Amino acid sequence: MTDEKRKNEAPESKTGSGEETAAKGLSRRDFLIGAGVGAAGLIVGGGLYYRNNMPDSAVEGVFSRAVNGGRNGKYFEEDALHVITTGTGAPLPDPNRVGPQAVVVAGDQMLVFDTGPGSTRQLALTGLSISSVNALFLTHFHSDHISDLGEFMLQHWTGTGVEEPLQIYGPPGVEEVVDGFLTAYQLDRGYRIDHHGPDTMPPSGFGGVAHTFDLGTDLMSSEVVYEAGDVQVIAFNVDHPPVVPAVGFRVNYKDRSVIITGDTIYSDSLIHHAMGADLMVSDSLNHKMSQMIAEAGESMDNNLSSVAEDIQESHIKPEEAAVVAREAGVPVLMITHVLPPVPDFLKRPFLREAKAIYDGHLQMANDGTLISLPVNSYEYAIHELLQ
Ligand SMILES: [Zn+2]
Ligand SMILES: [Zn+2]
Repeated sequence: MTDEKRKNEAPESKTGSGEETAAKGLSRRDFLIGAGVGAAGLIVGGGLYYRNNMPDSAVEGVFSRAVNGGRNGKYFEEDALHVITTGTGAPLPDPNRVGPQAVVVAGDQMLVFDTGPGSTRQLALTGLSISSVNALFLTHFHSDHISDLGEFMLQHWTGTGVEEPLQIYGPPGVEEVVDGFLTAYQLDRGYRIDHHGPDTMPPSGFGGVAHTFDLGTDLMSSEVVYEAGDVQVIAFNVDHPPVVPAVGFRVNYKDRSVIITGDTIYSDSLIHHAMGADLMVSDSLNHKMSQMIAEAGESMDNNLSSVAEDIQESHIKPEEAAVVAREAGVPVLMITHVLPPVPDFLKRPFLREAKAIYDGHLQMANDGTLISLPVNSYEYAIHELLQ
């Protein structure tokens, strides 16, 4: 843990904390495909070809590696609760962050939380196979959390030609949202079956099936909404005015657990739901910076100023997220849903107040940050999958 405290930034890879306990290595390669990560290689390889007249044999090697190899497989071999923040942005455009999404890989399960704009492509670039996703969970129905749902269902189907549709869990409203995306993608469904044939694109695998859970309005409410093997997903209510319902999720795997807050303001119930977790992935809005944007945009002929002011009532401050993590005894806090968008050199000012009151590991997550929590230990390891 000392490493992170010294550097105060997110280096390529790091580990931390607790007693050394060797975790049993299990193969997680089933989740992985090379194509996504390979695509990044293609871009680099393509540029070199034109600059250096690369021979065909070398170009062939680039394609072969792109299709067959993934560099991130090694991180998933350990038996751990793995959490990847595949989208760390929010509604405002951010050149470095796509819309919100987190992915959990644990045991034989791959679970996805929210489908923010651009997150499907970002997830594919990590090398994880979208066709391997067992279930998708939606926190609420703001567009920045659902707008990639159509694309996500499509990639889940077409990646390996699955025969079962995607299982999608959410609070009341999830059926309406899923139905809308299914309608929008009906024509494309037909094109793809016609083009590739039903053996490659089994019609039964298209789309998704909505599963509704209803927690009522009590912020203390929670419920187990999904269980498979050693993985348990608990939904809990959060306070995200004016949106009702809005939920967060806790995922338990063996002796490790993560809290994904979704969008929320501070409430004491968050501490209750986060109690004893190993990791909290928290929504965040720096109110001071948002206010600066509101004031800077006052003279502009658009809604930026009023929106920047309104959203302050709907999101937790970094220092409030730090209070929740501290009071709930959570040793690692990853800030996501970064509002307002900030360039790298403003990351420290963004988190300054939070760092002053929280002794655990605190950083702004990046698109592609992997946090691994090995079972039977207090350790954590952090790697960047997309940098
Ligand atoms: Zn929201
Ligand atoms: Zn949001």
